[in-house]
Amino acid sequence: MIELETGHEVELEYGGRAEITGIIGKGIHDIVYIASYNGSQWALKWYDIEKLDDPEKMLSNLKENIADGAPNNKFMWPKYMTKKYSDGSFGFLMEMKPESFEYLSDILKGYKIVNEHETGRANKKNVKFSSLFSMTTAALNIVNAFRKLHSAGKTYQYLDDGGFFINADTGAILVGGCDHIVKEGTAKPLVGGMPGYMAPELVKGEACPDMKTDRYTLAASLFKLLFRGDPLEGKKVVNDVCLEKEEILRHYGKDAVFVYDPQDDSNRPVRGIHDSVMKFWETYPDYVKEIFTRAFTEGLNDPEKRVDESDWQTVLVRLRAETIRCPMCGRTNFAHFFEKADHKTYKCPNCREEIPTLEMSHRKWKTPIFKGAKLYECDVYSDSTDFLTVVGEVVENKLRSGYYGIKNCSDRKWKAKMKDGIFHDIDPGKGFPIWEGLEIDFGEVKAKM
Ligand SMILES: [Zn+2]
Repeated sequence: MIELETGHEVELEYGGRAEITGIIGKGIHDIVYIASYNGSQWALKWYDIEKLDDPEKMLSNLKENIADGAPNNKFMWPKYMTKKYSDGSFGFLMEMKPESFEYLSDILKGYKIVNEHETGRANKKNVKFSSLFSMTTAALNIVNAFRKLHSAGKTYQYLDDGGFFINADTGAILVGGCDHIVKEGTAKPLVGGMPGYMAPELVKGEACPDMKTDRYTLAASLFKLLFRGDPLEGKKVVNDVCLEKEEILRHYGKDAVFVYDPQDDSNRPVRGIHDSVMKFWETYPDYVKEIFTRAFTEGLNDPEKRVDESDWQTVLVRLRAETIRCPMCGRTNFAHFFEKADHKTYKCPNCREEIPTLEMSHRKWKTPIFKGAKLYECDVYSDSTDFLTVVGEVVENKLRSGYYGIKNCSDRKWKAKMKDGIFHDIDPGKGFPIWEGLEIDFGEVKAKM
């Protein structure tokens, strides 16, 4: 009993009815409907219990997750259980995905199919990040979702490219597939997961999903997002004409090889098939390639050596800070594509505009400073991991164009060295000019030009 008709009313566990008003999509073991409940629209996930391994366990896990609540408001968490039907069927209500969020799978493809309401015609619509900045922010948000989940003592059993919804303009994310989240240590071996997202030991059936297998899934998701391809799909895999169970077991389990493994070139990307991966591999700075190489060589078969959330965050925060938008001509690219005027100044290869940097006492790399650049809490307070809260912004002087300053958007007092050689207090909401002798005292972290 999986097909529910429009108009059908499903009884909820604690009273009330949700009326089916439409359909969102079909999954492997479920259909997701649109349902009207208490005057608003919800998504109703309704299981095909025949296809569930252990419906009773699924049900009790869902109830437990509902009782525990979501790790934060980025998770599209189960909210209300339905009553169980006499044949054992059940489902739950969760919030609807907002229109402004795209499926990760559509972002990876670069387009989505939209059905026009009036004509019913299907149209292809591009789905693209509006900037490098929003892409890096989405990657940071995915890392953070795993961090929140793990600190709540939970893990995924199963994740695929339907697992994330992304706002391509802002990089905000929502986590879907939350019915596959369980308490760490309680997951059973995985049946029928998506190979590209599964750790090799899961593909081989040698382990149960846990935080370490999640870290593989995290690395694979980030690789797909940044490189638009699969980290294990290269020459070796495409040479196999069909990917049946045995080949999948080999390429994603027993004999998995990273496409850019420095010690083993047997699985390099193939021109004409993996062009995105090849192009992006040339685009990212070395520190990004290094962390992915570590994730998919040492971390491939050794769960203890997987890259953890804080290491990903360190690298992605740097990548975001080192994405420069030239204030003169608007050229936007990673810092290593800009020329160097000297060891601490970038120069736009297009218009020759010079872009200064700030040297932060807790970092080995220098932060480019250009109009619109933002400083986040984790950039200026060494005890913070908050990569979203803006505490400073580079702004242009309202009275003198071409003159820039930094505005203190935080709630703490800073000190900055002005041209008189003296440190002045910079209260929240106030700013100070950028000049070649600038020094800033953020508290524990100091910065200088
Ligand atoms: Zn320029």
